Amino acid sequence: MQGLMMDFPLTLLTIFRRAEALFGAREIVTRLPDKSFHRYTYREFTERARRLAVALQELGVGRGDRVATLMWNQYQHLEAYFGIPAAGAVLHTLNLRLHPSELAYIVQHAGDKVLIVDRTLLPLYQQFRDHVQLEHVIVVGAAPAGAGPGAGGSGAGEAAGAGGFLDYEQLLAAADPSRYREPDLDEREAAAMCYTSGTTGRPKGVVYSHRALVLHSLGTALPDCVGMGEADCCLPVVPMFHANAWGMPFTATMVGAKQVFPGPHLDAVSLLEDFSQERVTLTAGVPTIWLGILQELDKNPGRWDLSSLRAMLVGGSAAPRGMIQAFQERHGLRVIHGWGMTETSPVGTLSHLPPDLAEAPAGVQYDLRAKQGRPVPLVEVRIRNDQGVAPWDGETMGELEIRGAWVAASYYNAPEAADRWTADGWLRTGDIATIDPRGFVEIKDREKDLVKSGGEWISSVALENELMAHPAVAEAAVIAVPHPRWQERPLAVVVLKEGHTVTREELLDWLRPKFAKWWLPDDVVFVPEIPRTSTGKFLKAALRERFRDHLAA
Ligand code: ADP
Repeated sequence: MQGLMMDFPLTLLTIFRRAEALFGAREIVTRLPDKSFHRYTYREFTERARRLAVALQELGVGRGDRVATLMWNQYQHLEAYFGIPAAGAVLHTLNLRLHPSELAYIVQHAGDKVLIVDRTLLPLYQQFRDHVQLEHVIVVGAAPAGAGPGAGGSGAGEAAGAGGFLDYEQLLAAADPSRYREPDLDEREAAAMCYTSGTTGRPKGVVYSHRALVLHSLGTALPDCVGMGEADCCLPVVPMFHANAWGMPFTATMVGAKQVFPGPHLDAVSLLEDFSQERVTLTAGVPTIWLGILQELDKNPGRWDLSSLRAMLVGGSAAPRGMIQAFQERHGLRVIHGWGMTETSPVGTLSHLPPDLAEAPAGVQYDLRAKQGRPVPLVEVRIRNDQGVAPWDGETMGELEIRGAWVAASYYNAPEAADRWTADGWLRTGDIATIDPRGFVEIKDREKDLVKSGGEWISSVALENELMAHPAVAEAAVIAVPHPRWQERPLAVVVLKEGHTVTREELLDWLRPKFAKWWLPDDVVFVPEIPRTSTGKFLKAALRERFRDHLAA
């Protein structure tokens, strides 16, 4: 027997129409490049997004066409998040920290037709413009006084200014929202796409369907997930080009939360100012951001009023246990640790304490909260190794595999990567993990970062966690270095906190009681900083290259 319910398409348009109808007065705040604040309401946001949709349609952008963005976290990017899919097109967020040649490859591979670029990022675009074939380039943001493209012109086709660029504000002004033609979208059509660095080879394109993004928004808004509602004020530190800022702009728009965008100002002091001034309740970013914020708070406790901040979502790489504990105990701030990938929209697991452990000793609680957590609803996980699917015993390691309503089923035009999916349809994550009897996933390493010493595996994440719990250590990365006898041995690369000192022996003594002897790093090197990837994670590949001969005989 068939169910007799409506086949109501789960598209971003339903989220958009809801925001338009219900949350008109809610505020959206952006830090502009000059550090001043831009403020407007959902009413203005939805009207401008609709105008953008009209402008794109009238430029000839059709169903399924890719429209790329090269922008910070800023209100115009939110307009693009909805305006592009509302035109029936596909929002393709470009990572502004990539090399121009990589951006050129990605734009070409995706077949982007239009680019919307922030004025501050035009110099980056100029570096790859000769290698791409875009039909239109639309520039966002005020021109410096006395200069700038787009003088004159009223219609979309006439708004071209200097350098063949279109001016975003002129396009919007000329686009009459009453001319909007709402596409009759199927929920399985593409709404957005994002390239991931992947484990090998060229970047791979993940294509999000409307349905996946809507379900992801619903799923992550749940109380035991991110827990987001109309009363919240959200500030995604994670870039809107990094897996849709973990879905935060979609979810916040769905529930009508106030949204704050930090623009290009991602330093700890600017973010702390934003948190306290705008009364932010929820924020999200990679651990390196929070390590910086923790140092700033430790230096200046009490300088910022963070009493509104309910939770900080931390993921993208492992949140050190010591950091979770330090935020909680020294500053009363709650970290929610989560795991995900571009391929999983991205939220896959989140670490919340089950209610029966509410009274458990603090150590037990932190141990659990430092794990990557349990799968969120509509997502399933398993681990598999040479022996097959492994038991959930918290000890047996294997590759984490995942399937679910917002997990990619393949990459865009990349048949060579088909082996990332198992024959029975699970995504192989490339992460080595355990799952405990309660279902908590613990990531031990990325497969490529594991230290393979004499045929045994050493978890760099576990060592880093302990090192970063040392009071003198600001950041630590443990890498595999070639070794004449053991193939690979761990090397600890450490950044000290300002004004602190510690020796190699002291750090090894710190680790000794917690690990088997053969897990201890062969050496500790001190560096002024650890290089970062384009998404702000430790760039271990660069460290491996730099220290490859460190343990040579
Ligand atoms: P990139 O390859 O550019 O880093 P992603 O952001 O999609 O692209 O990275 C996903 C990967 O990040 C995961 O496969 C995992 O290795 C790592 N990761 C994400 N969250 C966590 C976490 N909480 N702990 C450990 N690793 C994580």
